[in-house]
Amino acid sequence: MSKSFDIVVLGGGPGGYVAAIRAAQLGFKTAVVEKDNLGGVCLNWGCIPTKSLLKNAELYDLMKNHAGEYGISIMGLNFDFDKIIKRSRSIAERISKNVELLLKKNNIEHIRGFGKLSSNNKIEVIDNAGNIIETVDSKNIIIATGAKPKNIPSIHVDKKSIISSSEAMNLPALPKNIIIIGAGAIGVEFAYFYNTFGSKVTIIELMDNILPIEDKEISDALLKSFKKKGIDIYNSARVEKATVNNNIVEVLVNYESKQIELKAEKVLCAVGVEGNISGIGLDTLGVEIEKGHIKVDKNNYMTNIPGVYAVGDVIGAPWLAHVASAEGIHCVEKIKGFNPASINYNNIPGCTYCVPQVASVGMTESKAREEGYELKIGKFPFMASGKAFASGDREGFVKLIFDAKYGELLGGHIIGTEATELISEITLAKSMEATYESIIKTIHAHPTLSESIMEAAANAYGESIHL
Ligand code: NAD
Repeated sequence: MSKSFDIVVLGGGPGGYVAAIRAAQLGFKTAVVEKDNLGGVCLNWGCIPTKSLLKNAELYDLMKNHAGEYGISIMGLNFDFDKIIKRSRSIAERISKNVELLLKKNNIEHIRGFGKLSSNNKIEVIDNAGNIIETVDSKNIIIATGAKPKNIPSIHVDKKSIISSSEAMNLPALPKNIIIIGAGAIGVEFAYFYNTFGSKVTIIELMDNILPIEDKEISDALLKSFKKKGIDIYNSARVEKATVNNNIVEVLVNYESKQIELKAEKVLCAVGVEGNISGIGLDTLGVEIEKGHIKVDKNNYMTNIPGVYAVGDVIGAPWLAHVASAEGIHCVEKIKGFNPASINYNNIPGCTYCVPQVASVGMTESKAREEGYELKIGKFPFMASGKAFASGDREGFVKLIFDAKYGELLGGHIIGTEATELISEITLAKSMEATYESIIKTIHAHPTLSESIMEAAANAYGESIHL
């Protein structure tokens, strides 16, 4: 007899396991079908292990390049690349085990295997050999299968010389040189990591700047900082071909209307992701797909098939773990009959953990102008912050964008130390529809980096004290 559940979640990443825990909290009999370690790409091959690697890079960077500024001299500074990688892998494994425990604690069954929908209330679980090992019935199914790296059609990712982010965080040795195609979050984080440990890094980006979705002033500042670190950057450049010869990759790039050839030991392809929609029974069931992602009603995350829902990367942009989790919670609460407020996709923070860090929420300046707003813009450089100065983290600034008419905060952008932590204050302010006044009048502790947010708001209205 097959097992029956109220909710079965396909995929145990931050969309899936979070949805499952919320479902269990609400009294649903719940299971998660997952073929790999729990935690998905984010926890096993993305957000978490890269943060471990980047912490290593930041520490090494600080000791190698800045110790003297703090009056510290270090003799014989060295690193063990193998240990750096192993630390990152063991952190991912440990956190994945914690997710396993969380499921247990919430009485959620973890069914190991590859799940395939055979109807809107049945999932077949398949083992590595392709045999059906279990059939599970469920009143509701939530698809949270995530996404995988997108490829450039003319480039074959052989996982040895031409690699994706998974291989980039698990290389057996530091490459002498690496070409990174794509300067989104993944591209620039690995650029910082490999450059710090001494690889010669070259970035090739199709758009006219690195981190092209960020505010132009922020991308420009990161570009300047990366160039200063010795990273070569080709913007508005198109990769035409990449071929491997004797373990060296030759990359043909169209740049400023010329063809140039670049060579490196490794090429990392980081040009975005696409939904994991194949082999899970969507076509037989007739689940509607749009541009490679499952189409859902964002009011309740139901697909066109009643009882079948989808959340996270598999439903498309923004491909972020925190969005997947929020969608998973929302979806389950809707199934329960609650009426949670819709997710506001204009209030989602984005974070990039290179040094200097970049974080933002809401509109960029150019987007706000495009939308026809009259703007008040305030900036505050960390150079002028006592805390940043004392800590030796003077690079970067906070930029806040307000609607001149009502003073409403439209967007916040930070480049610099702890940007990825500081952004939460701006996100909260924005989600509460805060005006410049409420930010200025909120007393910020001194000395803190967060005072820079208050000062940036004050600067927009000519009231900054420290500028
Ligand atoms: P991305 O979409 O953020 O960036 C891909 C970049 O590649 C873009 O700048 C694009 O213009 C460029 N590109 C596309 N085709 C190209 C080509 N042929 N030649 C040169 N450049 C090309 O994708 P990503 O960096 O691969 O990351 C995947 C997803 O994971 C993103 O949505 C990202 O936000 C998310 N992610 C987030 C974090 C984080 O929050 N820190 C970290 C890693 C990944």
